Amino acid sequence: MDYIEMHAHMVSRTTDDYTQMALMGCAAITEPAFWAGWDRSTADGFDDYFRQLTEFEPKRAARFGIKHYTWLCLNPKEGEERDLARAVVRRIPRYLDHANVLGIGEIGLNRVTRNEIETFKDHVALALEHHQMILIHTPHLEDKHKGTRTIIEALQSFPNMDPARVSIDHAEEHTIEMILDNGFWTGLTLYPQTKVSVARAVDIIEMHGADRIYVDSACDWGHSVPAAVPQFVMEMRRRGHADTLARKIVWDNPIAFLGQCPKFTPPVFAHAV
Ligand SMILES: [Zn+2]
Repeated sequence: MDYIEMHAHMVSRTTDDYTQMALMGCAAITEPAFWAGWDRSTADGFDDYFRQLTEFEPKRAARFGIKHYTWLCLNPKEGEERDLARAVVRRIPRYLDHANVLGIGEIGLNRVTRNEIETFKDHVALALEHHQMILIHTPHLEDKHKGTRTIIEALQSFPNMDPARVSIDHAEEHTIEMILDNGFWTGLTLYPQTKVSVARAVDIIEMHGADRIYVDSACDWGHSVPAAVPQFVMEMRRRGHADTLARKIVWDNPIAFLGQCPKFTPPVFAHAV
């Protein structure tokens, strides 16, 4: 089944991964800016990364027939460093007109500190000032519920924030209701160990329906699976769900959300299988 990968860190993946994703039906990828695995030492390091995301990676993806989009930010793990964060936020506008930039992301919180919250708000203000969409990372494990609540409150402190243009990713059973009830979009991140397994994701769809929900692999340099979205489709079929429901989650919903950005064009070669 054709699908859109809503969250993949392709700078960490090989050409073999691109090949497999193309064979599995991946038509487009959105790649949020994230943590490199170590803290970058200067704002210049982010410039190099943003050039990779806006210049090199779209060309690499195109060789496999995959459309590549990106989101830009200083990631939550480095948000503690306020001086660095301010310097990076000042540089982001020069990239926003690039053809593959959808908005600001993945911003959010890691350990839910005061500095992280300030850096998060700086990014939200930047997004709203430049009419950008927003993609949000929520903290892991024990910090997830509190962090998601804090993120929603911070977003709602901006009177001109439209929740329909914001996705709060990495939702789990105990956070999805507060995300959806407040009008946001959400993603279920399919991970082999942490986050949500394929079976848990289908459980969540069976409980909450499929409105404003998508799934993604969030594959990066760590233990993660670029085939996670097709595996989700397999599990939906195994449980007897109609393909129209799976397609809503891996194709129609991503297009509905991303289509709010005029730079996003739904892949036309794909079709109703
Ligand atoms: Zn990520």
